[in-house]
Amino acid sequence: MTPEECIFCKIHKGLIDSEILYSDDNCFVIRDISPRAPVHLLVIPVLHITRLVDVNIQDAHILGGMLKVASVMAIRENIVESGYRLVVNQGENAGQVVPHLHLHILGAKPLAAMG
Ligand code: 5GP
Ligand code: ZN
Repeated sequence: MTPEECIFCKIHKGLIDSEILYSDDNCFVIRDISPRAPVHLLVIPVLHITRLVDVNIQDAHILGGMLKVASVMAIRENIVESGYRLVVNQGENAGQVVPHLHLHILGAKPLAAMG
């Protein structure tokens, strides 16, 4: 999928309507359109990266920036004390639907134990 066809690239360019909760040079944050928890946000790099393995060493700071922004959003959404989960789905077996890297932030309810 090219950036021209990508939902998240279109949201960033304002071609698809979505409230941008946070934005900087590296990434932006929106609410998931089909939330799996009362707080379900997506931290999305501005760069159209499909997979973590595609991130070049020059772009590695973007990943750190995304984690830092996830912390900022967790504070804003008041889920730090109650706890939350960060998820990156990678590929078919993980159920990745949008082929543009993104970090899910899930919280404000007890989340099922993993494994
Ligand atoms: P994935 O399964 O690829 O990790 O997650 C993609 C997520 O993007 C899904 O949770 C889905 O609900 C969300 N999503 C897909 N299209 C849109 C959209 O147009 N707007 C928003 N806000 N979220 C979307
Ligand atoms: Zn994209």
